[in-house]
Amino acid sequence: STSVALWYQERKQERISKQFEARPIELRSDEIIDGVTGLIGNTPLVRINSLSDALGVEVLGKAEFLNPGGSVKDRVALRMIDDAERQGLLHPHTSSRIFEGTVGSTGISIATVAKARGYEATIIMPDDVAQEKVQALLALGAEVERVRPASIVDKKQFVNLARERAKAFGLEDQASANLHIPRGHLLPTASSSVIVATAVTDALGEETVMDPKQAEELRLKPRGFFADQFENRSNYEAHFDGTGPEIWRQTNGDVDAFVSGAGTGGTIAGTGQFLKSMNEDVLVVLADPEGSGLYNKVKHGVMFDRREAEGTKRRHQVDTVVEGIGINRLTKNFELALPIIGDAFRVTDAEAVSMSRYVVLHDGLFLGSSSACNLVACAKLAKKMGWKDGQRIVTILCDPGSRHYSKFWNDDYLRNAGIPIDPHIVEDMLEQ
Ligand code: PMP
Repeated sequence: STSVALWYQERKQERISKQFEARPIELRSDEIIDGVTGLIGNTPLVRINSLSDALGVEVLGKAEFLNPGGSVKDRVALRMIDDAERQGLLHPHTSSRIFEGTVGSTGISIATVAKARGYEATIIMPDDVAQEKVQALLALGAEVERVRPASIVDKKQFVNLARERAKAFGLEDQASANLHIPRGHLLPTASSSVIVATAVTDALGEETVMDPKQAEELRLKPRGFFADQFENRSNYEAHFDGTGPEIWRQTNGDVDAFVSGAGTGGTIAGTGQFLKSMNEDVLVVLADPEGSGLYNKVKHGVMFDRREAEGTKRRHQVDTVVEGIGINRLTKNFELALPIIGDAFRVTDAEAVSMSRYVVLHDGLFLGSSSACNLVACAKLAKKMGWKDGQRIVTILCDPGSRHYSKFWNDDYLRNAGIPIDPHIVEDMLEQ
């Protein structure tokens, strides 16, 4: 085994010295940050000492819970909104509104960036997600609508309803509903109608004398977009341009595996694709919670394989405590991940709960449910591969435990749901 370890170290050295050109990343500094959106991304990578020491591999977590909106989704919200501005779909200080269907984190991130840029947000979410997410959304001034969890073929499913609400707002024909005025031309002033006229002049490249009433109508015309994180490619790009290069830089390209759950699939697709583009030997691994069809899709090519489907409930039928990951349809973002996923692990609620209690007690790391799920998959991967020579597994610590007091971090709730809180589950997993 010494020679294997030696061979391994040499390979690592080779890989690190291989020429690479990661995009330059600004690390967090002592400079004054220009507004809240400047706090998004560039998160640190933390070694999870308890798991790393027990497994003999380095388990490194990207501390996404440090983003100002409290989760990895800040990156996606910022990129979707930036891209929408570039397309002329949003203009500050007009009646611009962003619509989204989300289990919560993306909504909070959208509401955060919206407020920083002068927009409104309407968030549609299932009514069984943790209450504290709704409270955060309301505090951020978002309009919130909660609906019963339903299948994607149901019109009242939260994503479908968000699309409907955007249409009802007058955004059915986004191209014509939005004048393509470059960003920055509309300023908040009492005489905004005059400024609209100027902006129209600029956009058309000719003198336009506009009736102030007409200009005011134009200003009040509904603008905005349905963010559609599941299908929106900006989601993938946020991770391909941000999360992936940051991890590459922070590890000097020394990464053996990247482990992530998938909700929209944006994180695993964008980060995974970037890491693979730098080194095709990086193993990209899916962590999949109970009730999700993605594990089957990766392993058997279909979401609900007959062999496994019996007795397996769909995501919206399961009262799982793991929020934000797991889904039963193939989204555009997850499609981009499918060709590069090398392995997948199922993670039970009991395992995720046990892991969250393990790392809080050993590391003082207070994590949300999807982060815990990711860490379980890291441990399973290390065991399955027989890794114990310092190989590096990077994963995402998506959000903090404080987003989950009412379910995942509520012992009474878990007892009622029949989910054991048993630290031995993880101890056994590490010892095996
Ligand atoms: N963790 C949490 C807490 C989330 O809200 C989400 C997104 N829904 C994810 C993980 C999954 O990320 P992605 O959508 O990029 O697959």
